[in-house]
Amino acid sequence: MKKLPSHIIDFHDNARRAIDDHSLRRSMRHATGTFRQKRSDAIAGIPFQEWRQAASELRRMVVDDLKGYVDEFAVNATRRGAIVHRVKNAEDARNLVGDILKDNHAKSIVKSKSMVTEEIHLNKHLEDLGLRVIETDLGEYIIQIAGETPSHIIVPAIHKSREQIGQLFREKLGCDLSNDPTVLTNTAREILRQEFLSADAAISGANCFIADTGSVVLFTNEGNGRMVTTLPPLHIVVTSIEKALPSIKDLPLLMRLLPRSATGQTLTSYLSIITGPREPGATTGAKRLHIVLLDNGRSEIANGPYREILKCIKCGACMNVCPVYGIVGGHAYGSTYPGPMGVILSALLNGMEETHRLLDATTLCGACAEVCPVKVPLLKLLYELREMRVDKGYVKTAEALGMTGFGIAAHNVNIFRTGQVSARALWPLAGFLSPITVNRLPKPVNRTFRRRMS
Ligand code: SF4
Repeated sequence: MKKLPSHIIDFHDNARRAIDDHSLRRSMRHATGTFRQKRSDAIAGIPFQEWRQAASELRRMVVDDLKGYVDEFAVNATRRGAIVHRVKNAEDARNLVGDILKDNHAKSIVKSKSMVTEEIHLNKHLEDLGLRVIETDLGEYIIQIAGETPSHIIVPAIHKSREQIGQLFREKLGCDLSNDPTVLTNTAREILRQEFLSADAAISGANCFIADTGSVVLFTNEGNGRMVTTLPPLHIVVTSIEKALPSIKDLPLLMRLLPRSATGQTLTSYLSIITGPREPGATTGAKRLHIVLLDNGRSEIANGPYREILKCIKCGACMNVCPVYGIVGGHAYGSTYPGPMGVILSALLNGMEETHRLLDATTLCGACAEVCPVKVPLLKLLYELREMRVDKGYVKTAEALGMTGFGIAAHNVNIFRTGQVSARALWPLAGFLSPITVNRLPKPVNRTFRRRMS
């Protein structure tokens, strides 16, 4: 098979490998099914559509004046004693975080989950600088010791069975083999506790930041977020700019919708609102607080036709209902963000050349748009990006000609009928086409619907 240039995501190849992995498929089926069920239970009996509409309007308001809210946040966070940095791209963000750590003589760093730091490949950069970085969310810790990347934005180790995790812990941590989640969690907890206590610095993401108070907000379930943001003397928050919320009064809406959509919980277990560094006499918060606001193409997206993707609150619900994601898992997407929102964000952040094959990772069934708690029009955006792919010439000539021919035939009944007869006659030759093309073509039936009805 022809090798693609390394920067192009070969979704087809990745998906084929994932489909052959029976253990992966079993884990994905179980996990996504569980989250779908929990989400349905969590939204039953509440005015979900009303909240959803309000959240959609709120998030649209933010995207409409992204610069304004980020400016307001920067002023208020600075007033409260945080050092705010605004960075254009991934490289600047990596270098900045490395410099802050160097200036503070930090050698060991504890992290709480942040997809933005995955987006900018921060861990690798810090490790190349000789620093020790430990992920502290259990899922992130698991994939870190496995040497993998997250395969879900909320549940990074969703693709692993408890047997695989038990085996991994035995190999990497030298503990006794166990498949019991409590035993495994306690093993990780013991190790991580020492890391919290000895770390020189912490890095976290943010679920949102609040413009009118200058606060950063973290939702966590394991309590590690609090350890990370309080125990080490230095805390660096790395977040992308679209996570702004106008006011602290908007937070309850997000608190209701995000955990319900993400994990089916009515509320997250721990909520941390960090406003400035630790004040004299206070018992929580880091002594020094840096906040890195990453743009990385978002200002441009906010001014363009796909701006509504920035409403996304990163709950992962669209992944859990996507029939493609549910089979192949997140790694097949070969990009930081998987699933329906991931396809869109990846195409916009990384460009069509790198990601055009990813646009096949959807059936256009629309389930993702149905569940989205902030009404991101995922189906519409996916469809429009597919159109853009055709306009930019990223489809094979045969496919483009075939679709053009189908478009003409669909407008003319005689041509359509002739086409049906020819398709039936020529179907035995379809085996000469690529398997992907054949799989995407419906097999012509002997008696068409029109003939049955006539
Ligand atoms: S697009 Fe919607 S459903 Fe998907 S992660 Fe974002 S907010 Fe959640």
